[in-house]
Amino acid sequence: MSCNINLIRRTVFSAEQMEELGSQISQVLHHGDVVYLKGALGAGKTTLARGIARGKGFAGRVTSPTFTLMNIYEAQVPIYHFDFYRLEGCDLGDLGLVDYMEREGISLVEWPQVGEGPLPSDALVIEIEIVEDDYDRERLVSITAQGKTYCHKVEELERRC
Ligand code: ADP
Ligand code: MG
Repeated sequence: MSCNINLIRRTVFSAEQMEELGSQISQVLHHGDVVYLKGALGAGKTTLARGIARGKGFAGRVTSPTFTLMNIYEAQVPIYHFDFYRLEGCDLGDLGLVDYMEREGISLVEWPQVGEGPLPSDALVIEIEIVEDDYDRERLVSITAQGKTYCHKVEELERRC
């Protein structure tokens, strides 16, 4: 079965709406799934990750794991929240972080493009853009799939939101 839709675009007008979108996205995420979150500093990656964690029933603190590299949230499914921003030039394989992405939890990765070494190729990829460099304005969110499994998730998401 081929995929008909591989791009969803949404305009998001507030942090609350971004969390709400995250919560909707969480409904198509299950054990072992990987989500790459791209966009500039302050774009809203962590805000979206918080929405995903809330959607999976986690009520605690969700902040950028910029210094810790990974936060674990004990949600309905364990969530591994990564931020590779500070890992430029580091070998991800050496750090053993990628091992988590092969586990039963859901992995949310901010700055997946930073760092050396292979990350899983199949993933849901979410890109957040700031309009005209104005942090007080809306965000443009694009959701695409890498790999067939995620293509089906994009289709399911399109039906839901
Ligand atoms: P990142 O993880 O990409 O660096 P954060 O989610 O930590 O970004 O921060 C985004 C900031 O922008 C938050 O302070 C949030 O309240 C604010 N914000 C303003 N408008 C929006 C919007 N439309 N969507 C998401 N965040 C927004
Ligand atoms: Mg962040």
